[in-house]
Formats: sequence, C-alpha cells, structure tokens
Amino acid sequence: MKIAVSACLLGEKVRFDGGHKHDRFITDELGKYASFAPFCPEIIAFGVPRPSIRLVNKEDSYRIISNKNGDDLTNELQDKSYQEFRKIVQNDLSGIIFKSKSPSCGMGSAKAYLENGFADSKADGLFVTICKEKFPLLPMEEEGRLQDDWLRENFIMQLFAYNSFEVLKKSNPTIKMVVDFHTKNKFLLQAKDEKIYRVLGNIVGNHEKLPFDELLSNYEYNFKVAISKKSSIGRNRNVLEHMSGFFKNELSSVEKETLHEQIEEYAQKIVPIVVPLSTIKLYAKKYNTSYLLGQAFLDPYPKELALRSSLLSSK
Ligand code: SF4
Repeated sequence: MKIAVSACLLGEKVRFDGGHKHDRFITDELGKYASFAPFCPEIIAFGVPRPSIRLVNKEDSYRIISNKNGDDLTNELQDKSYQEFRKIVQNDLSGIIFKSKSPSCGMGSAKAYLENGFADSKADGLFVTICKEKFPLLPMEEEGRLQDDWLRENFIMQLFAYNSFEVLKKSNPTIKMVVDFHTKNKFLLQAKDEKIYRVLGNIVGNHEKLPFDELLSNYEYNFKVAISKKSSIGRNRNVLEHMSGFFKNELSSVEKETLHEQIEEYAQKIVPIVVPLSTIKLYAKKYNTSYLLGQAFLDPYPKELALRSSLLSSK
C-alpha cells in the first residue's frame, strides 16, 4: 500500500527553517504496512531555508503571500504544487497524510488572513485544494487530526478498505469476486452507512443487467463513499448485536448474557469495542462460523495497530 505524505512528517528537513515534524506513528507504525511517497511543494518552489508564507483571502480566493515582503507567490507555489501532484500520482495511492496548519498542506487547518491582516476562518492549504479536486474519494487526513483516536481509527480503516478495493480492481475481477468482496465487507459497510450498504447490494444483484464495467464502476464509487463515512457507537452496536445473533443456538444463556453485557458496556463507553469483538471472534472460531470469520469488520487492518483498544476510538 502506498501513501503520499508531507515530507516533513517523514523526518525530512524541508520546513521553512530547515527543520522537520517527524511523526513516529506514520513512520514506525503505519510504515510497517505501507510505503510512502513524500511531497513538499514549498521546498521545490522556494528552497530551504525560506521566508514563511501565509494564506490571504482576497475577494474569496486564497493567495499565498510572503511574510517577509508581502509578495504574492501564488503562481510560483501553484506551479510547483502541480509538479509535486504529478509526481505522487505516478504511484497507485491509497491515501494522503498532510501536515496540519501549513498554507500548503493544512487540511482545513491552515490559518487564513484578511487583506487587512486580521484572521479569517481556517482553510485548506494550496496543495490540499489540488489533491481534493483531483481525488475527491481518496482517503486524506492531516496528522493533527490523527491525534484523535476516533478519527485515526476511522482513517486507518478507510485506508485499508480503499486499498482492498484497489487490489480487487487490479485482479481483473469477475462478478463472483465482486459479490464475495461485498459479502466480506457487509458488517464494515453497515457500520459506516446502512443505506449505501443496501445500494451496493442492489448493484451486485444487477437486476438491471448492466455491463460488468458499469457495475464495477458504480460499485467502486458507492463503496468509496461509504468507507469515507465515520462510524458511530450506535451503528457499531447494531453490527455487534447482529453478529452475536449468529450464535443464538449455540450459546448458553449465561454466555449470551455476558456478550450482551459487553456490547452494552461498549455502548455506554465503559469498555472499548475490542472487548465484545474479541468475544465474538472467540465464538466464531469455536463454532467455526466462517461467514463471521471472513468479515473485514473483525480485522479491518493489522491488529498490531491496536486502534480499537482505546475507549476514545468510538463516538
Ligand atoms: S507542511 Fe508541506 S510544504 Fe510545509 S514543509 Fe511540510 S511538506 Fe513542505
């Protein structure tokens, strides 16, 4: 899996002052499962060290202005941003991680100013704007927001789900492979968006007898929209209840009650989701419930990332 990342987050000394903002989660944890395509439009445009720049809202369009002499550097930075963009898209990307608050890389967190110097609302940096325009469905997040357990869990789940679809697409799939993919992702999709899950079910059902290419591209669009949604405790709880129903004939009343209690405690934020999930996995193995064992929702990404062990990973 390839992820494009702001070079300063990878420890490269590309910031305006020659420093970096090395993010250990990205390089040391995510780096075990992904390789990185670094980018830094500002170093290409202005070198290092360089005067700092800011975003200025001029008649509802953002300009890049030098903090040193007030020069308008928008065109220069835009050219180099497109150059960096063309470089990273030579890779089959499964996502992008940006450095927060930067006038190039901030994703909704770049400080913008009015022409009179007063603060305006926060905005996307120039490079982020280009990436969003070109790749509206690609998973993108900034490292600042990844400090939040819930956003991090949602983003990593989206990354791996997105990548799994890309792998399917490259494998020259048959309709059966798409149906199997949909089956495997049933609970993950339900935890994201029940309505889109049903739309996807209709697409693979193909009652309209669409050509396969059209079916696959409809499926791709809706799948990528679904996985971009954030999960919620309520939706996760419904999925957990649904999964627990698979053992209703096997479990004793005490075992059923215990599992139900764990789901309730998760819903009340007393225990993290990993608690009821581990119990469900245990029963799925014990009773050889292959339908559940194959579900992406149980292991949406490598468990070593341990993102579901935090009480704060669900909202
Ligand atoms: S935030 Fe973006 S532009 Fe700024 S140093 Fe990091 S990679 Fe370069």
